[in-house]
Amino acid sequence: MRGKSWCGVLVLAIACAGARRPPLQPANPLPARAPAVATAPIAAATAGDDAGTPPTDAAAKLQLSAATMPPPAPLAELLALPGSATTSLGGPSSGKLVGGIALPDSGPGFVHNHERPDAARFGSIELVQLIARAAERVAQQLPGSVLVVNDLGLEAGGPIAQHGSHQNGRDADILYYTLDQKRVPIPSVGVPLDPTGKGWDFKDLSIASDDQRVQLDAPRSWRFVQALLELAPESVQRIFMVEHVRSMLLAQADKVHAPKAVRERFADVTCQPEAPHDDHLHLRLFCTPQDMAAGCLDSPPVYPWRRDALKALGLSPMIASAYTKPEHDAAHKRITTPKQARAKAGRMDARVLQFLHEREVWLKRPHPGRAYCR
Ligand SMILES: [Zn+2]
Repeated sequence: MRGKSWCGVLVLAIACAGARRPPLQPANPLPARAPAVATAPIAAATAGDDAGTPPTDAAAKLQLSAATMPPPAPLAELLALPGSATTSLGGPSSGKLVGGIALPDSGPGFVHNHERPDAARFGSIELVQLIARAAERVAQQLPGSVLVVNDLGLEAGGPIAQHGSHQNGRDADILYYTLDQKRVPIPSVGVPLDPTGKGWDFKDLSIASDDQRVQLDAPRSWRFVQALLELAPESVQRIFMVEHVRSMLLAQADKVHAPKAVRERFADVTCQPEAPHDDHLHLRLFCTPQDMAAGCLDSPPVYPWRRDALKALGLSPMIASAYTKPEHDAAHKRITTPKQARAKAGRMDARVLQFLHEREVWLKRPHPGRAYCR
């Protein structure tokens, strides 16, 4: 029997709470040697404003609402929907979503992480379409690619377990593409990656013999962010990721001679926030002009190119105000403290403890002093 897994152990992190669904076959299957997604224990998301919460009441609530949900529409249908299909209201940390679209279980080059709550897979039409299109582009160019997508938001948006933001349908947590020790692509299990791009899937935390090495798949991970920025260059507001993965992806961009504009845009929009984002990236999209008219609000920063794009439409940036005290307190209640996480984890073998110790080095927000990431 499995013991405690990564879930709930990682600092500021994660809880693998989730409605379990049957195993999925990605539309582009991985090589036969790779384990199926279903067998991989997924230590889900940490995020800047995402953070773990104990997998208790909130998870049960999500599971409950998932049981009453209709199945997601087929992907082709979703890709044909116009922007008016959904409306984001308010800001990422204080918003709502009208007409939320469910990310399908799978599509060409992606799967929704079946370990995550079904109820947390809803986003704006722009977000769902962009993820699907970018994943497909990666799979076409680098066969064997399967993107694993974690939480988006709730069908009607609003506060969601384990996240401070993800409220107006414009945020998504996405796992980095990963490789096994022999550099074979494997569906990401969302474990923290160290400054060399390596991590451990510890599985049962109390047993060392089942530990498996994983590493960042930089070519695919870069190709994915490149696809995001090519498909929606004006729409990507932020990509939260740990500083060392950012550096590795910039190095990969140089290696493959990625277009300069894409590389620079990536450099601008990426930042490591309070939570490290060493096990997933967090994508945030700007409001569309249509949604702005309905009351959609962005978060800072507003880049000159965004300001210019809005100006061309006769619009000015509309920014959500900072957390009010009650919102701040409520967001904190949704997250797990390091102490709670450790207490929950039970016994951990020496390698796990060692890794957690090493991780302290990159957990803190680095403040690199860049123009849009101070
Ligand atoms: Zn997130």
